[in-house]
Amino acid sequence: MAVAFVNGRVLTDAGLEEGLTVVTGSAHIASVTRDVRAAKNVEKVDLDGKLLLPGFVDIQVNGGGGVLFNDKPTVESIEAIGRVHRRFGTTAFLPTLVSDDLSVVDEAISATRDAIAAGVPGVLGIHIEGPFLNEERKGVHDASKIRYLDEDAFELLTRPTGGKTLLTLAPEKTTPRMIRALTDAGVVVSAGHTNATYAEVRTALDNGLTGFTHLFNAMSPIAVREPGVVGAALDDQDSWCSVIVDGYHVDPVVLRLALRCKRPDRFVLVTDAMPSVGSEEKAFNLLGRRITVRDGVCVGDDGTLAGSNIDMATAVRNTIRLLKVGTADSIRMASQYPSEFLGLSGNYGRIAAGYRANIAIADDELKVLETWIDGSPS
Ligand SMILES: [Zn+2]
Repeated sequence: MAVAFVNGRVLTDAGLEEGLTVVTGSAHIASVTRDVRAAKNVEKVDLDGKLLLPGFVDIQVNGGGGVLFNDKPTVESIEAIGRVHRRFGTTAFLPTLVSDDLSVVDEAISATRDAIAAGVPGVLGIHIEGPFLNEERKGVHDASKIRYLDEDAFELLTRPTGGKTLLTLAPEKTTPRMIRALTDAGVVVSAGHTNATYAEVRTALDNGLTGFTHLFNAMSPIAVREPGVVGAALDDQDSWCSVIVDGYHVDPVVLRLALRCKRPDRFVLVTDAMPSVGSEEKAFNLLGRRITVRDGVCVGDDGTLAGSNIDMATAVRNTIRLLKVGTADSIRMASQYPSEFLGLSGNYGRIAAGYRANIAIADDELKVLETWIDGSPS
């Protein structure tokens, strides 16, 4: 269905611009133009000054609407999680599996492949977060699931889904050769839940590692004579860092300092959302552990943080408010930059001709009012 969005404030590379008409073809954006004739003979959507933004791309979503991907790694779960996050502007996402048995990883990969084949809106691939992690930085992950990444898992992790596979691993729990083989096979490898030294991370970066999962959380911090994972992440100018900006996972001051170390387009907002997002139910089970939402934070009984309770629109608002990042860049951290990290630039994350017609319409407070995926309204 061809549609012309008129009278909006459109996020382009120049910032929020007025006077543009955005015409969608079927699943893609056909044109972004100042020529009013573009809206002729096409169904019009009058935005009346509202914001027209690239839909959000969330690369770390454990659940939503009462559903946890680990509990039931099925097409139905992926669909349900996508539906909930769509309300908050997310038009593309990676359902995320935390450390589990390899049989569950297998099921999750198959479900992702089937969901993509069935055209479930928004599913981009899968984020496999563990079990190849360092127990010393396990966070809420189940220690009994954690294991070394050897040759046996390679076939599983490189199985095609028709989308992207993002793998969070601890570089010290595998070999540089394995990281090279995985990235050569198209897997996007990110360091997380890791106690690696600076030198170990540097070697991993030289072998294809391109990301850091929830920077600062569950990784070796900067110390005076050992820069650790955090030091490596901030020192390397090319890799991407995902951040959870909920006001709890990392002190905003620490995130503001991090933002001064690298270009803004190397930061990616993630929700790390749990089933409580978009649900009235504020307690759930995570691999046998009871997690409750207390003061807006998901925690285990011992106080360990267990994912977050935020949606992506909230993460963007927090980035503006707490981190003092401009509106345009805050939105790009939730759309364009994660797309670039996954190697999807040219297709996802911008309002430009040829890109997917994935659009969030929001008011001035960045409350999402409507979400379009592949040219179809919610
Ligand atoms: Zn994690």
